[in-house]
Amino acid sequence: MKIISNIKWALRFIKHFIVSENFELKYTLTMYSIAAVHAFLVILFSIFQVFPLIVFNIGSVTIYLCCIYLIKHRPNKPLLQTFYITYLEIIIHSFVATICIGWHFGFPQYIIGLIPFGYYMCVTMINNNKKYVIATVLGLIAAFSFFGCYIISTLIGSAYHLTVSPVVEMSIYIFNAICNFFLIFLFTLIFVIDMQLATNKLRSQNIILDHLASTDPMTGLYNRRSMQVFLEHAVESKEDFCLVMCDIDNFKKVNDRYGHDFGDVVIKDIANIIQQEVGDYGNVCRWGGEEILILCKRQPENTLQISENIRRNIEKHIFRYRDKTLHCTITLGISRHRNEDAIEDTIKNADDQLYYGKRNGKNQVIFS
Ligand code: GH3
Ligand code: MG
Ligand code: MG
Repeated sequence: MKIISNIKWALRFIKHFIVSENFELKYTLTMYSIAAVHAFLVILFSIFQVFPLIVFNIGSVTIYLCCIYLIKHRPNKPLLQTFYITYLEIIIHSFVATICIGWHFGFPQYIIGLIPFGYYMCVTMINNNKKYVIATVLGLIAAFSFFGCYIISTLIGSAYHLTVSPVVEMSIYIFNAICNFFLIFLFTLIFVIDMQLATNKLRSQNIILDHLASTDPMTGLYNRRSMQVFLEHAVESKEDFCLVMCDIDNFKKVNDRYGHDFGDVVIKDIANIIQQEVGDYGNVCRWGGEEILILCKRQPENTLQISENIRRNIEKHIFRYRDKTLHCTITLGISRHRNEDAIEDTIKNADDQLYYGKRNGKNQVIFS
């Protein structure tokens, strides 16, 4: 049971590590694991008494610990520089290991893992178009180094001839392969998840931007630009619809008597009432200062009914701001759009109906 809960904890930790947006933490932990592998190699080469590799690996552990220290404590976080050091160390280590003990222990395999690692580091840390070129050049250097190790091993042979059983030789090879595969899997996964997270972030930012660009910030209604698009679509659909132009009655007096802030509250409340009444029957937009245009995809009789409901609900509504209250009314002009009509004419007709209502007593719905 304890093992299972430990495995679960480890998996949760790896998941957290992979999806974390803390790039510095990800890199630091990777450096710790690379340093740990080198510490293990110090022990291994001490057993085999390969002195150049003992010294080299002690140097490597020291270098990685210094890099981790620099990342943590230097104000400008030298991530890119420490990446180049890691890259160089792995290539030199592969050459030194090949020269000392030969190719067959599998040390040059780590060079292959440098290719996805290089792309990940360059693409995330370099902020210009050269990042792909740099990562590709580093990848090619890695590929040539891999072949270089093989050629050196084949043509020159190794300085030390370790007398180890085939099982030990195979175990060291498999250990190196596992470490290398782990790094390749890890960086490929981190890369893909980073891309996915960035895409998701961009998508939600686009939704927010889209919303901001299409709505009026004060009322939350669509703005005039969005309404133009809805009108175009409605005309293209070749179906009949109605436009309702609404204007608050005597609004200048509201502003003059109660102040602009209360005026804003009135506009917001009226926008809410209209939006609730229209619902899914059409689109509502703030057409001008206190003018609201409704695109109603219903028959004229239904549009008349909806408009009458709006007028009545606003007439009944008590507008409140701080300790003041007031009543307000609106006038609405309805115009029917038929397939062959020009949309500008339909808008003008709704406006004409509205102003007919204004001239003839206000607080009414006009449709003729
Ligand atoms: P009518 O009944 O004929 O419509 O008279 P009215 O006083 O309402 O006249 P009009 O429709 O021309 O008034 C528009 C006023 O609306 C003028 C402007 O100060 C006010 N207004 C426009 N936008 C806003 C706004 O965002 N907030 C506030 N508080 N007032 C606004
Ligand atoms: Mg007006
Ligand atoms: Mg008005």
